[in-house]
Amino acid sequence: MGILKADNLVKIYGQGENEVKALNNVSLEIEEGEFVSIVGSSGSGKSTLLNMLGGLDRLTSGDIYINNKKLGDMKDEELTIFRRRNIGFIFQNYNLVPILNVYENIVLPIELDGMKIDEEYIDSIINILGLSQKLTNMPNNLSGGQQQRVGIARAMAVNPKLILLDEPTSSLDPELVLGILDILRNLANEHKRTMIIVTHEMRFAKEIADRIIFMDDGRIIEQGTPEEIFTNPQNDRTKRFLERFQEF
Ligand code: ADP
Ligand code: MG
Repeated sequence: MGILKADNLVKIYGQGENEVKALNNVSLEIEEGEFVSIVGSSGSGKSTLLNMLGGLDRLTSGDIYINNKKLGDMKDEELTIFRRRNIGFIFQNYNLVPILNVYENIVLPIELDGMKIDEEYIDSIINILGLSQKLTNMPNNLSGGQQQRVGIARAMAVNPKLILLDEPTSSLDPELVLGILDILRNLANEHKRTMIIVTHEMRFAKEIADRIIFMDDGRIIEQGTPEEIFTNPQNDRTKRFLERFQEF
């Protein structure tokens, strides 16, 4: 069994007339060390899927297993600790703590957990991300790209097995995007991490991901290697989606 397994995930928001089925029977399995891109149009359920996989919210029905542990069986407190130790979440907005400097932000999850800081590992993350000259800066003295890199370092700090990224580059200048994505790939390779990334960057999905998952209307409509998806898409909606991107 892979590092992550999801069976028949359903997530319904709201009630009655306002009901939205954001996930409609999604199943998937991800192997350790895989680098997976989730793509699809806005509102197709990508963020909902990521939030569920990361244990940030509860399912309406279905089961998620990470490292063979069923998230739904855990009480809230247990889930919080499990999440902090096993899952790194990188959001669109970096959520840095404004009164802590760069280094303090990076090691915060370790300290929250009362664990010892592995200086050597933290140093390697800081170096890969090019932050060694910025450790005593406060977040408001950093550019958007630098703040995003601090967010990535913080998510990597506890050395999580699974890293989830929700459009991590959408608030960055275009010229920074590929650099950040390249760094993520290096981190994933060097530290053998499993990464699931929601991204609009089709170039990235094409060149870097091991697997691309297409979502539409709360379902996975197609998945495969970049080669399979780009040379021979099976689903009409996937084809149309790709055509839109090929115009760029
Ligand atoms: P994506 O990330 O692919 O843009 P989302 O997962 O954010 O899609 O949203 C999927 C659907 O669920 C959308 O119709 C969205 O409006 C709805 N939705 C997402 N989050 C909530 C929420 N907290 N409450 C109600 N509806 C939501
Ligand atoms: Mg989203």
